[in-house]
Amino acid sequence: MARWIIGVDIGGTNIVVGLVPIEGGAPVGLRTLATEAVRGSDFVVGRVAAMVDEAIAETLGAHGGTRADVAGVGVGSPGPLNRATGVVINTPNLGWKNFPLRQLVSDAVGFPTQLDNDANCAAYGEWWLGAGRDVDYLVGITLGTGIGGGIVINGEIVHGASDAAGEIGHMTIEFTGRRCNCGNYGCLEAYCSGPNIAARAREGLEAGYESVLTQLVDGQLERITAATVYEAAVLGDRYANEVMVETAKILGAGIANLINIFNPQAIVITGGVTRAGEHLFGPLRTEVRRRAFRSAYDACRILPAALPDTAGVIGAAAVFKKATFGSV
Ligand SMILES: [Zn+2]
Repeated sequence: MARWIIGVDIGGTNIVVGLVPIEGGAPVGLRTLATEAVRGSDFVVGRVAAMVDEAIAETLGAHGGTRADVAGVGVGSPGPLNRATGVVINTPNLGWKNFPLRQLVSDAVGFPTQLDNDANCAAYGEWWLGAGRDVDYLVGITLGTGIGGGIVINGEIVHGASDAAGEIGHMTIEFTGRRCNCGNYGCLEAYCSGPNIAARAREGLEAGYESVLTQLVDGQLERITAATVYEAAVLGDRYANEVMVETAKILGAGIANLINIFNPQAIVITGGVTRAGEHLFGPLRTEVRRRAFRSAYDACRILPAALPDTAGVIGAAAVFKKATFGSV
């Protein structure tokens, strides 16, 4: 009986790899390296394979055993993708088009391999071992450069008819709103992703709002990031706080939609933006309460992720376990 499953989380910025105990537990042999997608897809697959080999060597060195103790590999990748064929259809961040990632990784590492969307993996990891480990209905939201989502119902990721379900960042939140990277207008992501929080703050300053933000970046407004906005909010800056409250209200409207549609027990939010803490979660809960059905709101906890650095790796391993053994 195998003891380990390898989890691989491929992001636009970093690749994270670790071995997850098959019965569940913290990943070991954990390592992170830059993705460096500009060096090409062969480079990225080679880097994944090298990281997997190192993680296995470190884990077997510390815990004993052989490669036969590893059941296989779960890979989380930005999508959209086709799980049946293991092909990533298109990822602007990595520059991949119709890229047979699963087969290439499997050939390179010599283990059976399963593939799923990275945000689905993060939600699944939080459901298996994180903030949602005691619930049956969970929605995970990843706030970062983009906004990802994953829906878990009764221990299963909801994939939809063509593996495209859970694209929470691209729900329309404003009918004629801001242009989104996906080509649509008014998506949640066009307001509440890190770069768009910064862009909205910048636009207000250019329109004449006074804020300590201008000093924090020495007048170079293009240097404003979401982190600078909440830094300023924590310092008590009124304008930055307004931007955070507006962000929370828009996100709250999106979450109220999710609560009314799925009636989940937990919404688990992960990503850098959650470091804003109660500057975000306070007004967020208020807005959700205002908008969602009361019985649905009362049944749902809105939580920061419990595994902000490892949910993707753990969830990718869980994807492999589910596909191979039937349950997690
Ligand atoms: Zn969009």
